[in-house]
Amino acid sequence: MKTRREKIIELLSKHEEMTLLELADLTNVPVKVVVQDLDSVRKTIRSEKKRIEVRPAICMNCNYTFSGRSRISDPHKCPECHSERISPQKFRIASS
Ligand SMILES: [Zn+2]
Repeated sequence: MKTRREKIIELLSKHEEMTLLELADLTNVPVKVVVQDLDSVRKTIRSEKKRIEVRPAICMNCNYTFSGRSRISDPHKCPECHSERISPQKFRIASS
């Protein structure tokens, strides 16, 4: 029996890219739990010379790109135009 975190590692290694919501749906936990899991996974896969790659969230109104964030959770509001229409971050695991 795999743990949820092992399942997340498997999903992110196999699939191209996944959002927090997709991971939450597939593992049957709330998004905030997936955020905690990814924080932990980010540390544990380091020893395997792998890392989590993040495609940044983008404001759908003004195209502001949320690059260089260290937090796993999705941003809710654009700092430029204050729109809340944000396309979510996408994650995958890659060899570093
Ligand atoms: Zn914006």
